[in-house]
Amino acid sequence: MITLDDYAPIVGEEVVSQLYRLAEHLQGRRFVHINSTAIGGGVAEILSWAVPLMNQLGLQTDWEVIMGDPAFFEVTKAFHNGLQGFKVNLTRAMLEHYRQVNLENARRFSWEADVVLVHDPQPASLIEVLRPQSRRWVWRCHIDASRPHLTVWRFLREIVKQYDASVFSMSQFAQNLPHPQYLIRPSIDPLSEKNRDLTEEEIKAVLNRLGIEKDKPLILQVSRFDSFKDPIGVIQAFRLVRRHTPCKLVLAGGEATDDPEGPEILAQVQEAAQGEPDIQILLLPPDAHHEINALQRAADVIVQKSTREGFGLTVTEAMWKGKAVIGGAVGGIVLQLRDYHTGFLVSSPEGCAFRIRYLLHRPEMARRMGQTAKEFVRTHFLITRHIRDYLTLMILQDNPDSRLIEL
Ligand code: UDP
Repeated sequence: MITLDDYAPIVGEEVVSQLYRLAEHLQGRRFVHINSTAIGGGVAEILSWAVPLMNQLGLQTDWEVIMGDPAFFEVTKAFHNGLQGFKVNLTRAMLEHYRQVNLENARRFSWEADVVLVHDPQPASLIEVLRPQSRRWVWRCHIDASRPHLTVWRFLREIVKQYDASVFSMSQFAQNLPHPQYLIRPSIDPLSEKNRDLTEEEIKAVLNRLGIEKDKPLILQVSRFDSFKDPIGVIQAFRLVRRHTPCKLVLAGGEATDDPEGPEILAQVQEAAQGEPDIQILLLPPDAHHEINALQRAADVIVQKSTREGFGLTVTEAMWKGKAVIGGAVGGIVLQLRDYHTGFLVSSPEGCAFRIRYLLHRPEMARRMGQTAKEFVRTHFLITRHIRDYLTLMILQDNPDSRLIEL
């Protein structure tokens, strides 16, 4: 089992001992996370590492997953798209169904908690039923909510304002709400199967198993098949690059159980890639962490050409592997990429193609930028920093009336 002390060689003794000191203030407190999928997507990824480590620190930390039918996830995907600024149609029946499914889920939850952290809109309306079961309720929004569609936000705001606080990934996503709002950046776990060091043999074995021959430079995007991740734009960029530079493209993705649009987008991607033997589309199972790790390490250039992005853990993962990343200039990606330092920000397939060629033709520069990127992640985006933020949030919730907290 991985323990907190195992992180000391990576982040330093002082960072780990600070977590123990903060946790002393919270011994025995009960902390419940609620989201809508146990696998697939960044939220599940983070919770799978954070929950065991919080328990090791002496907080009773649980993770609940709500269940829903396809109609429920159609509604919540519309919320997601609406929060990310797209016009969506929501009927009264859809909104009622959303509340009804959360009501049914609420019946399964009998815990009593000090703080509940509810992730994203899917389980948000649980508060309307379960409010007495926790002293404090915090809504954690992982979505790029910088310009939400008003109809969606008006509905969600009525729910979110019942919370005691909310958490966003960056200041641009904060909203007009009657409670404190906190900023917490997501993170990756450097010791997980997704991010741990791999040997050359392990990387080669995965490429062999996936049928990827490394006879040309490899460009990679890892993402759910979601239109906001712009896989079609990546294919367009690839086609431009390879007019001049031989290379191949791997689009690796899977499905999240709470994302009903995946199959449709995958079909569009397959059509766009037709007749192009140097594009490989990999449909991976949700637990393919080792495979994604190996692909990211094997890639020559990693792209995350999103058009909206809450944070973009795939960018952090790639940077941790010493890669300069080319990312869409949106949402949390701009917190991670600095042109010519840790990667490049782009806003079009043409811009993306230009930067891919730039990096392919300057491997030494790409390597140096990759090293800078790795150190940037070490300082800002590893799980130890994230746990420190959660502990601080918990302490603030534990002492809601105090203006000065002695830590
Ligand atoms: N991921 C995965 N399998 C896939 C696609 C993505 O395990 O087929 C992981 C990816 O490595 C990352 C997370 O899911 O850890 C995606 O997080 P991100 O913040 O990039 O995007 P989200 O899916 O949450 O919008």
